[in-house]
Amino acid sequence: MKTIYLLKTCEINLKGENKSTFERKLFANIRKQLDGIKVRISGRKGRFFLAPDDNIDEKTRNKIEKTLSSVFGLTGFSIAKMVEKNMEEISKTVLEVASKQFNDGVTSPENVPLTFKITARRSDKSFKYSSYELSCILGGLVLDNFKTLKVNLKNPDFKINVEIRDKAVVYSSVYKSPGGLPSGISGKAILLLSGGIDSPVAGYMMAKRGCAIEALHFETYPYTSEQSKEKVIELAKKIRTYLPKMKLYFVPFTELQVYIKQNCKQEEITLFSRAVMMKIAHLLAEKIKANSIVTGEALSQVASQTAENIRFTGSHTTYPLFRPLIGMDKQEIITKAKEIGTYEISVLPYPDCCSVFAPPHPVLKPVFEKISASFNAIEMDALIEDAFAKIETLTIT
Ligand code: ATP
Ligand code: MG
Repeated sequence: MKTIYLLKTCEINLKGENKSTFERKLFANIRKQLDGIKVRISGRKGRFFLAPDDNIDEKTRNKIEKTLSSVFGLTGFSIAKMVEKNMEEISKTVLEVASKQFNDGVTSPENVPLTFKITARRSDKSFKYSSYELSCILGGLVLDNFKTLKVNLKNPDFKINVEIRDKAVVYSSVYKSPGGLPSGISGKAILLLSGGIDSPVAGYMMAKRGCAIEALHFETYPYTSEQSKEKVIELAKKIRTYLPKMKLYFVPFTELQVYIKQNCKQEEITLFSRAVMMKIAHLLAEKIKANSIVTGEALSQVASQTAENIRFTGSHTTYPLFRPLIGMDKQEIITKAKEIGTYEISVLPYPDCCSVFAPPHPVLKPVFEKISASFNAIEMDALIEDAFAKIETLTIT
């Protein structure tokens, strides 16, 4: 008997002629995220099997299962037993799986019998029983061996699936994967990654829509500490666990930040800093051939995120600006951050440049033409060029 994995895809199945491109990308991403663990992926029509080498150890198996639960493009996977196509082997395996479910799966309230359902599928039409006959025979076998189990075809506590292909495959529980589309299929996006709660969640959400993510962080050392930088690296590493690859770019922002502070009205500092960040993100997008920019903005969450301010900062790039959190409450964002594992890192106390340089009363509803004119009156091109040239690149592993 061999243990393999059945992979489930969802949105990819809706694709027409491009489907195989999506599937190839998905499989390539799985392999990359597996970091060199060898696997064979086979199957077609939205049903794929991933087979590792025989005799892999427990640690490798755990790594495979952890990876499958964090690959975009998969909705879920099952751990499946693959055996020879004869009734003796199949029956033995079905009973084993039923026994495990029976012992693990007390999902029913006490004294209510557990229920199950067998679904058999015969892809190999030369097999001597039809799908229906096979379901009946195996269902009867389980009932004979577990006297307290009952059949429930509509809403069973657990299902056992049996597929007859070149081998017989038996599986039960489905484990959850994040869904979405394979990373990279939507091209490359630049994520403006701060050390806060929001932007890592925004990056995750756009990665789920198939964006390859390259993160960009603006640091204002020594106004912010080495630990602030470490925190951003940790956040990037966490996002990277869902991705086949990722880079993190650091822009030395101190000179620009101080210059902005000295050359604009106090209430404009945050807004102008954001505008300059956007300009630099635009330059980087051109350089590394990204096709979009992602921020963690949510409408009116803070002063810099009013519709008027978002219009102004967004006007400094012509790339599509993705703001996946725009309609979310802070609490919803926090829940998501906890779910993806970034929250605990984000709440570490090291501040980023926004908090250090934030004015007490930032502008809220600027007139677009006026604020643009006062921004354009400040000569910053040379400083921007200089900061851009000094970008430091880190490959996140
Ligand atoms: P976050 O929790 O993501 O920091 P926030 O609610 O604190 O967001 P702001 O500080 O106004 O909001 O930042 C808005 C967005 O601007 C962030 O979500 C992020 O995408 C980007 N941003 C802010 N500061 C930086 C920075 N130092 N480096 C890169 N991007 C940044
Ligand atoms: Mg912030």
